[in-house]
Amino acid sequence: MSLVVELLSTGDELLTGQVVDTNSTWLMDRLWDLGIMVRRKTLVGDDRDDLAAAVREACGRADAVVMSGGMGPTEDDLTAEVVAGVLGVPLELDEPSLRAVEARFAWMGRVMTPNNVKQARFPRGAVVHPNRFGTAPGFSVAVGRATLTCLPGVPVEFKGLCEEAVLPRLAARLDGAPAARVLKLFGVGESHADQAMRPVMDDPANRGVRFGYRAHFPEVHLKWSVTGPGAEARAAAIEASVRAIFGAAVWGSGKEELAALVVARLTARGERVALAESCTGGLVASLVTAVAGASAALDLGVVAYSNDVKARLLSVPEPLLLAHGAVSEPVARAMAEGARRAAGAAWGLGVTGIAGPTGGTPEKPVGTVHLALAGPGGTEALARHYRGDRERVRRFAAYEALDLLRRALG
Ligand code: ATP
Ligand code: MG
Repeated sequence: MSLVVELLSTGDELLTGQVVDTNSTWLMDRLWDLGIMVRRKTLVGDDRDDLAAAVREACGRADAVVMSGGMGPTEDDLTAEVVAGVLGVPLELDEPSLRAVEARFAWMGRVMTPNNVKQARFPRGAVVHPNRFGTAPGFSVAVGRATLTCLPGVPVEFKGLCEEAVLPRLAARLDGAPAARVLKLFGVGESHADQAMRPVMDDPANRGVRFGYRAHFPEVHLKWSVTGPGAEARAAAIEASVRAIFGAAVWGSGKEELAALVVARLTARGERVALAESCTGGLVASLVTAVAGASAALDLGVVAYSNDVKARLLSVPEPLLLAHGAVSEPVARAMAEGARRAAGAAWGLGVTGIAGPTGGTPEKPVGTVHLALAGPGGTEALARHYRGDRERVRRFAAYEALDLLRRALG
């Protein structure tokens, strides 16, 4: 059975641009893993009439509606009251919830004010979802043919309660357990990926499978979810086809992260890397050191911006800098080799480029980046011309450097 699911997010702050509605994007992604694509999403301010209309409309169309926000103790938290109004039922005090709210305040060493009692009042007939992530519990109630679930807007609470109370219940309403897969690629553009995926997506054997892309610049994530009989085996067969299409461009799957993967591979080999960065300004080092246990894999990171430092710290020969310029393959190679030598590391990475918006020339336009990897077997180099602003060029170059190392580590 396919379920029609709608999302409803409330809060004035979502409409003033102060807060981005990440709750719904997160839930859409999680629902997608169940093979459910959300049909519609609505954003409403903290206004009684608007909220009531939005609840009525969404519940008139969908099988399940998940609502976020407006569950707190203050005047502008209207959700329970509005839902009770739509249903024409009173709000009733839920004793266990009241005790849980009291216990939470005692635990925090704070005095509970009378308005906090509001968080233990729910429309008559609602099923209460205890909230062990925060104060306000959530609830589910039938509104017409829809199941309406209302959850607090605080992201950790919203996500925690979705995992506990919403996603398992929706999964139980589907035929069989869905199987979802994500493969992560680098160095393949989204339009190229889409083109290359056509034979798999158009294969009659894969009818009914939901394929999608997750934008995760500069990576491309391909995902698909299969429902119905044999879902696991079908999802695995698709994975084999996708891996065959993209080969070494696929670097990981599921929750894997590129930097963590590189750190894990280096650690397993008992090897370390030394970094010499120019245009990325330490971004590669930042990505690597964000991984717990990075000290086992990283020896040194130098941001070598000036020619003088490239020459003195990394022993890049001055004549090379003069003859080819700082943004050149010979200099990228010398930086990688210099960092490797300085640290006594197994691997050295060098990145030099023009991130823009200024500094480009006809021969070396903005986005020109030279990368090099020095290793036990010698030095290899790459030249790239990225498009985009400074931030994009830097990010692309940093991931490219990690990917260069990842490929070398096998
Ligand atoms: P509380 O009990 O804390 O009042 P609530 O259910 O009333 O919870 P809100 O008051 O709407 O929720 O929001 C609480 C916090 O959660 C706000 O600081 C807001 O930044 C954040 N938040 C609310 N809605 C969303 C959303 N849809 N996406 C991301 N963050 C959100
Ligand atoms: Mg609130």
